[in-house]
Amino acid sequence: MMEKKLNASSAERMPVLFIGHGSPMNAIETNPYTKMLNTLGKKLPTPKAILVISAHWMTRGTFVTEMQNPKTIHDFYGFPQELFNVQYPAPGSPETARLVKDAVQEPKVIGDHNQWGLDHGTWAVLRHMYPEAGIPVLQLSLDLSQPPDYHVKIGRQLMRLRDQGVLILGSGNLVHNLRQIKWEANAKPFDWAVEFDEWIKQKISDRDFSAAFNDFHQTRAGQLSVPSLDHYLPLHYILGATDSKDELKFEYEEMQNGSISMRSFRFG
Ligand code: ZN
Repeated sequence: MMEKKLNASSAERMPVLFIGHGSPMNAIETNPYTKMLNTLGKKLPTPKAILVISAHWMTRGTFVTEMQNPKTIHDFYGFPQELFNVQYPAPGSPETARLVKDAVQEPKVIGDHNQWGLDHGTWAVLRHMYPEAGIPVLQLSLDLSQPPDYHVKIGRQLMRLRDQGVLILGSGNLVHNLRQIKWEANAKPFDWAVEFDEWIKQKISDRDFSAAFNDFHQTRAGQLSVPSLDHYLPLHYILGATDSKDELKFEYEEMQNGSISMRSFRFG
């Protein structure tokens, strides 16, 4: 009996991660950002499965990939062939998809068997964190037509999967303006990008999540930094899946291409 108890409690609670993914080129480059991802993959407890909320899977309704072998999706144009050649052959996990559907009561999460797979928001990050692609990976889609609360509530219901070995990873960018992008990855960031990146850092640090969800468009810096919601919304799931006991650590805080914040952090 005693032993059973010990076993149950020794299941390590997984942290939750928000990772800025930026240009797909990061997938095939080696730079301080990709080195950070590599180190992060080594220092975290090994997950049983990884659930990614990627900026790049947008649907009506909320879906989870439920296939045994999700395909690698190259959802971009105008990049070198080398990037199109990348495969990330991680298995899926229908069992974990069922856990997701059971955990989220409202809204009903729908299993996806052949539409999606792993987009670059997922594999550009994971191929640095887990180069062997041995851990099962699932994606959860974003319904952009829904209000902030919808996404936060899903995150909150997913929280319990952390005790079942699931690493919940939001992949987006807190500052993401492609119209203003500079060609040089190391270009000097725009003032408004720095301003908003600092603002959101402060809100996350203060655990003023309500401001992060509701007030981000109150300044011109915020409007320029979040011109559309796709790369911002994964944040809602991650903040929803944290609790007050989780320690916050910023893993990376640099900008790329002048208008993309690669800020990445973990709770727990
Ligand atoms: Zn992206």
